[in-house]
Formats: sequence, C-alpha cells, structure tokens
Amino acid sequence: MAETVVMLVDDEVPFVETMTKRLTRRNLTILSAYSGQEALEKLKEHKDVDVVILDVKMPGMDGIETLREIKREHPLVEVIMLTGHATVETAIEGMKLGAFDYLMKPCEVEQLVAKVQEAKAKKSQHERKIMEARIREITSRRGLD
Ligand SMILES: [Mg+2]
Repeated sequence: MAETVVMLVDDEVPFVETMTKRLTRRNLTILSAYSGQEALEKLKEHKDVDVVILDVKMPGMDGIETLREIKREHPLVEVIMLTGHATVETAIEGMKLGAFDYLMKPCEVEQLVAKVQEAKAKKSQHERKIMEARIREITSRRGLD
C-alpha cells in the first residue's frame, strides 16, 4: 500500500508530540500543526497530505472554520475531527460539512489508525473515480468510444 500522509492539527503541544511518535511507529507519515492557520499554510506546501486529524477546539481559528477552508482548498483531503464531550455537536456539524468522521478524546491510537486507514481508502477510491472519469472524457472527445 502507498504511503499514508497525515497532518495532525491540535493546539495541545504535548498531545501532538505524543501522537506523532505513536502514529509514526505505525508507519504513518505525520506532519503537525498547532493552529488552523498553520495547518492551512502547511497544506499549501504539502500536496501529498491524505488525511487531516483536526481538533475541534482551538484558539483563534477553530476546528469548524479550519475544516471549511480545508474542504474548500483541498476537497479530496479527508478530515477526522477530534472532540471532547462538550463539543460533540460541533463534530457532528463538521460531518455535515464534509468531515469523514469524528473521534472522542482521549482516543485509542489503534482506533485512530483504523479511522485514518478508512479515510485514506475513501480518498484513494475517490481519486480513482476522478481518474476514470477523465479517461472517459478524453477518449470520448477523441471519438474513440
Ligand atoms: Mg484544543
């Protein structure tokens, strides 16, 4: 299977550092950001990001606002929201806005890895469909159909 590139976005520095170590050990390539703004800047530079793990509650640009921007700029990138009990409604709102799923904090690493793999599979399938549609479009334009 191709490399899976994940961006972890959370304002809690120790959480990001611990999770980065744990997820790297599970053969994921991890980029990190400590704010929504930083995440958006890094996504512009790193076009290979497959999945964003996004904290709902962050100072400044919150998770929902960051999600909207990610989906607008990078519609194929899948987003998993991370939430506490107090912000479950926000996470559900995030799913209506195109988030792949959400997980409650604190979450098990295994659960997070499984969710990331599901999200990556969805993205790959989506990309395949777009590729097939492009090929169909090209062949029909050439009258090869
Ligand atoms: Mg937070």
